[in-house]
Amino acid sequence: THFGFETVPEDVKQSRVASVFSSVATSYDTMNDLMSLGIHRLWKDHFVRALDPGINPLIATPGAPPLSILDVAGGTGDIAFRLLEHAGRVHGDNTARVMVADINPDMLAEGRRRAAGTPYLSQGRLEFVEANAEVLSMVPDASVDIYTVAFGIRNFTNIRKALAEAHRILKPGGVFACLEFSKVGNPVLDAVYKRWSFGAIPLIGQVVAGDRKSYQYLVESIERFPSQTEFAGMIKEGGFLLPEGGGWEDLSMGIACVHKGIKP
Ligand code: SAM
Repeated sequence: THFGFETVPEDVKQSRVASVFSSVATSYDTMNDLMSLGIHRLWKDHFVRALDPGINPLIATPGAPPLSILDVAGGTGDIAFRLLEHAGRVHGDNTARVMVADINPDMLAEGRRRAAGTPYLSQGRLEFVEANAEVLSMVPDASVDIYTVAFGIRNFTNIRKALAEAHRILKPGGVFACLEFSKVGNPVLDAVYKRWSFGAIPLIGQVVAGDRKSYQYLVESIERFPSQTEFAGMIKEGGFLLPEGGGWEDLSMGIACVHKGIKP
């Protein structure tokens, strides 16, 4: 059977996830655009806009440390760039910092290459660190204001362990925010979506990236990921408070979903 439906040791699973993302690193953007018909950009924009990161320097407490954000599974920096851009444009915050943590050196290399065209690296406000979301030992306890993870958590071998790490590193009042593919509530849309994802996506992977298997894996990992309610339950069990309304917001009728939790 294909990876994901078999029982494999954690280290084997981890290395398979790593090889999937090594294989997709360079074609990552094109593939995302093709697979989501460009909509992933709108989801990411919405995710960041709703988080609204940034502290206006005019109202900041004098001497307070800059806003600290950790973008886990941050890959090529898509979310990090948006977070920093939003903080500057909306709040005039040009001190916020983002650490991008990702398990895959090829994705990070692509992110560093893209970041070279921005002012953030030289300002010391953006760094790329190779790390597993389940062991963020480079991040001290209670040191981060916002933890983001976009289209990454479904790949983690042990989601509960990653949630525990998120809880450890967040400051009290800090926000856990996750953007991930989820479950489509409408049965008609779900049928169309399943046809698209199981039929077209592996085919696009084969034709555009020459790699059917990796894209087959991505589709299967979406299918296996818990429902909105189940995942909100896991966040709560991880010690987070859920915002009003259950803590999630469906995007495109549940094709993607934003979950949030607050560290008490
Ligand atoms: N967040 C980026 C975005 O939205 O464009 C990248 C998402 S990409 C689909 C998933 C990323 O998760 C890959 O870069 C992969 O290397 C990373 N990843 C998978 N398992 C991981 C883990 N256990 N710890 C950290 N990163 C992981």
